[in-house]
Parts: sequence; structure tokens; C-alpha cells
Amino acid sequence: MKNIAVIGSGISGLSAAKMLNDKAIVTVYERENAIGGLVKCDRPQDILFHRVGGHVFNSKNKEVLDWFWGQFDKDKEFIKATRNARILIHDKIVGYPIENFLYQLPAEIVDKIIGDMLAIQGGVHKKPEEYPHFEAFLKGNFGEALYNLYFGPYNTKIWNLDLSTVPLEWLDGKLPMPNLKQMLMANIVREEEREMVHASFFYPKEEGSQFIVNRLAEGLSIKVNSPLTKLEKTAEGKLRINNEAEYDAVVFTGDVRALGSFYTNASEAQKAVLKSLENLRSNGTSNLLCECDATDVSWLYLPEAKFKAHRIIYTGNFAPSNNRGSQRTTCTVEFSGKHTVEEMVAEIAKLPGNLNMIDYNYEPNSYVVQDPDTRANISALKSLSAADGLYFLGRFGEWEYYNMDKAMEAAMEVTTQILG
Ligand SMILES: Cc1cc2nc3c(=O)[nH]c(=O)nc-3n(C[C@H](O)[C@H](O)[C@H](O)COP(=O)(O)OP(=O)(O)OC[C@H]3O[C@@H](n4cnc5c(N)ncnc54)[C@H](O)[C@@H]3O)c2cc1C
Repeated sequence: MKNIAVIGSGISGLSAAKMLNDKAIVTVYERENAIGGLVKCDRPQDILFHRVGGHVFNSKNKEVLDWFWGQFDKDKEFIKATRNARILIHDKIVGYPIENFLYQLPAEIVDKIIGDMLAIQGGVHKKPEEYPHFEAFLKGNFGEALYNLYFGPYNTKIWNLDLSTVPLEWLDGKLPMPNLKQMLMANIVREEEREMVHASFFYPKEEGSQFIVNRLAEGLSIKVNSPLTKLEKTAEGKLRINNEAEYDAVVFTGDVRALGSFYTNASEAQKAVLKSLENLRSNGTSNLLCECDATDVSWLYLPEAKFKAHRIIYTGNFAPSNNRGSQRTTCTVEFSGKHTVEEMVAEIAKLPGNLNMIDYNYEPNSYVVQDPDTRANISALKSLSAADGLYFLGRFGEWEYYNMDKAMEAAMEVTTQILG
């Protein structure tokens, strides 16, 4: 059996470790004192707190679904829910995605949007790769009026960047691309959204996404408080970690920007690629766990610049057990970047639902921002490193805008490659 180290116990690392576990000797290294990475949850005042986001699961990939449900009892351990997302705009709640709910907007705005759409669709409707950047893509697809009302301000908040500096590589399969006919159909027959991967989703009955990682971790050998700080190739063709243990293969799910500083005897070609990845951009997220008034909404998007938060995730609606410890329902208010607690508490006073803060968290790295050459560089790094037995996986290992299911899909590819 091969001796394999997996660096990182987020969803990517644990999925890969689980897939390899009965076919190899696997050790997981986690630098933090707890497993889970971005999907970690805890329970301040016995209320479930997703420390980042509000992780729900679904996939369009049958192989991923089969593997995932092989780990759980779907009916006993999960709740299936339908996404009920809404947008707060001009002090009114409208449906999501906004282009399917134009009939809920003021007539003068709809007039401009329809004018834009007719002009766009009358011309040639370009493919995403034909646009130079994200801003051009959004304007080109949805027109100036819808861009100014929703897509521009909302995405500027989330990315915390000038959208004309955000390339489009990450977008692949992430946003449905409505054409005018679909938009008109949705507005006339008033169909709810169906295309997005999380239009319906599964959520653990207990302990949120922590339940998922805890189950995946069962039976694995995991070393917490164990950061990878040194990686070396040995003369015998192994990879040595932290001067202490040698492995036939290493799956790296940590931050690829940092690897150059601890892969001490990487080849000159690897060093050059790692150097080019050092300055990749990323964004952090601040989350405020709150009690709130009851609502049937699951996600409320807040595009307007007058709110610093960009969305409320009503995690208390995902599973009743999430609200244990509170007489009310609970939610997470999400802000892009770092904010002081005082600033966020002042902000929630402006939001609907009589929010009351319970806890907060700041995660410095949650969104990856690709540059136009990122995918080519990562691909070069993978090709150069596979011969050493070094593999890259995950949101920060591959610098991909993965959801959990995409991370599992990528774990399947990597583990198949390692096992041959
Ligand atoms: C706001 C937000 C909401 C989201 N919502 C959803 C959702 O609803 N559904 C969904 O499917 N996906 C969602 N996602 C995406 C999901 O969070 C990611 O796909 C997934 O968590 C990525 O897992 P990962 O293992 O690749 O990375 P991570 O979770 O970052 O795990 C990497 C792990 O490696 C460890 N590590 C790093 N460096 C080292 C080192 N040198 N040595 C040892 N360990 C190290 C870290 O501590 C961490 O535990 C969301 C993401 C965000 C940011």
C-alpha cells in the first residue's frame, strides 16, 4: 500500500483521504486545532454557527451524489429543502434570480431593462469567453439597467474589487445564462428558478456542515495542530514532511500561494511557477451570527450600497436544531472583507428582522480571485509535480471557485490519478 499524506482537513482533504483510505495508508495534516476548514461550525449559546457561509449540499454529478450518499443515511440524517432566495431592493423584497422577477420591479425600471435586453439579443449574444472581464460580461448579458440595479453593486460588494479586474475563467457553469425568451417565459408564467445547483439542497438534521466533515473524518488518521511547514523530495523518490515522515504521495489542499516558501528543493521550473502564484488575490468574509424574526426566506441578497452586508443566510430555517438555544430563529449576516464588530452591529440595525448579534467570525481567505493565467499556471504546476508524487486539490490548492460538490469531484480525479 502507498503511504500518502493529505495536507488540510477541509472538505477537499477529507474527501480525498476517505477515497484513498482503504486503498492506501493515509495521514491527514491539519494546521488548525479542529477539522473542517471553511465548512467548520460551532455552537455559541447552543445556536449553530457556520463560521463561513451557510453551507448546503447538492450536486448535478451522479458520481459525486452516489459517493456522498454512500457516506450518509440520506433520509434519516438530512433534510431536503427548496431554495427560497429573495432580494431586498428599494425597500421591497423581490424574487431571485432578479431577471425572472422583473414583474415585481417598478415599471420605469422594467422598461429600461427590456429595452436593454432587446438591444442585446437583437445583436449577437456572445459567449462568456468573448468578454474581456466580469463587468463587461454582466453588462453584455443583462444590460446597463439591470447591471446598475443589481449585478454591479452586488458583485462589487462580494468581490470587494473593481469588476473590470475580475476575469471570467471561474464563471464556467456558475451562473445560468438566460436568454430573452427564458426571461420572458419566467416573468409571464412565473416559474421559480430551477437551473442553479442549489435550487434545492440537502442539509444535515444536526450540526450543519460540521456533521459532514465529522462523518468523513471517521476512521481517518488526522493530526490537528500540524501545519505542513517543510516539504522535500528525498533521494529515494519520496516526499518528506516537516523533517519527520516520508510519503509516496502528498495531496496538498492548503494555500498554493504559500507552498513556494516551504517546498525547499522544488525544481527550478516548479519554483518559477510557484513564484508566479504567490500574489494571487483572495477575499475574506466576516460573518455575524444573529437571532432574527421568523421568515420563510433561505437567502436574502442585499445589493444596495447603503448596506455593507451582502446577504443574510437564514440558517435557522435549514434545520430546526440550528435554533436550539434560542427562542427565535437564527441567521448569518455576511460581509465581504474585514469589519469591526461595532461596524457590523451598526449595520444589522438597518436590516429587516430585528437582528440581535450572538457571535461573529472573520475568515481572511474565503473567495479566490483568478487572474487570466491562473489556470494555465496551476495546470503547469500539476504536470511538473505529479512526477514527485505531489498533487494539488481544493479551493486554495487549485485556486478554483469550488463548491463542496466540485471539491469532491476534483478529489475523485486526484485519487484516481494517484492510485493509477
Ligand atoms: C461564503 C461561502 C459560502 C459557501 N457556501 C457553500 C454552500 O452552500 N455549498 C457548497 O457546496 N459550498 C459552499 N462554499 C464553498 C465551500 O466552502 C468550499 O468549496 C470548500 O469548503 C473548500 O474546501 P477545501 O478543503 O478545498 O478548502 P478549505 O476548507 O480551506 O480547507 C483547507 C484546509 O487546509 C488547512 N491548511 C491550510 N494550509 C495548511 C498547511 N500548511 N498545513 C496543514 N493544513 C493546512 C486549512 O486549515 C483548512 O482546514 C461556500 C464558500 C464560501 C466562502
